[in-house]
Amino acid sequence: MKLCEHCKVEVEEDSRSCPLCGNPIPPWTEEDRVTPEQLQRKAREAERSIRRWLLEAFSLMAVTGILVVLAADMASGMSISWAHYPVVFIAFTWVSVIMGALLSRRTWVYLPAQTAAVCLFLYLLDRFTPGPAWFLPLALPVTLLTGTVLALALVTARKLKLSAIGSVIASMTTGGVLAVGLELLINRHFHRSWHISWSAVVFGCLVLVVPLLLYFRRWLRVRRNEIRKLLHI
Ligand SMILES: [Zn+2]
Repeated sequence: MKLCEHCKVEVEEDSRSCPLCGNPIPPWTEEDRVTPEQLQRKAREAERSIRRWLLEAFSLMAVTGILVVLAADMASGMSISWAHYPVVFIAFTWVSVIMGALLSRRTWVYLPAQTAAVCLFLYLLDRFTPGPAWFLPLALPVTLLTGTVLALALVTARKLKLSAIGSVIASMTTGGVLAVGLELLINRHFHRSWHISWSAVVFGCLVLVVPLLLYFRRWLRVRRNEIRKLLHI
């Protein structure tokens, strides 16, 4: 593929002058014979190598960070005391970034893996924090609920190929369900009872807005041509 140097129009291999501006075309070199597919493949390879380089640099930074934290902790008291927290945090961030880069296109693998990573991170934090355990009674159900609701919402949205307003309705429904679930779990943990208060208000408001949005979508469809005329598009 070759472009005219003056007007950037694409020219055939045997043309001596540009069909648009008439300027002479110099003879083709090997580089000019590269097809668009080859160009695309080259661009993909370049993108992949940049991504690999970024992940390697990030991994190196994570390892350096962990070593510095451990060294500082050892030097200050000749024992590991507070280093658990930053080390676990750095390791969790590293695992999340690597999984995001490698698996983000495979939703059904990525979401459970990410949920498992969050659970492991919270479990380790709970282990290193003095006081009563909060992972099993609170953090685990909250993480599992959030992961499941998000996964279901994402997969449904992808399957149904929702419009802009459809996506807003789906997000609002997801938010409402999540709010109710979170309040139930929090109340069970802190008050030993399954009841909801604020999340019922949130859910009610969201449910009331959904029919309004559906009505607005119908109105927009009916009036589309009139609006286009009005805006000159
Ligand atoms: Zn030209």
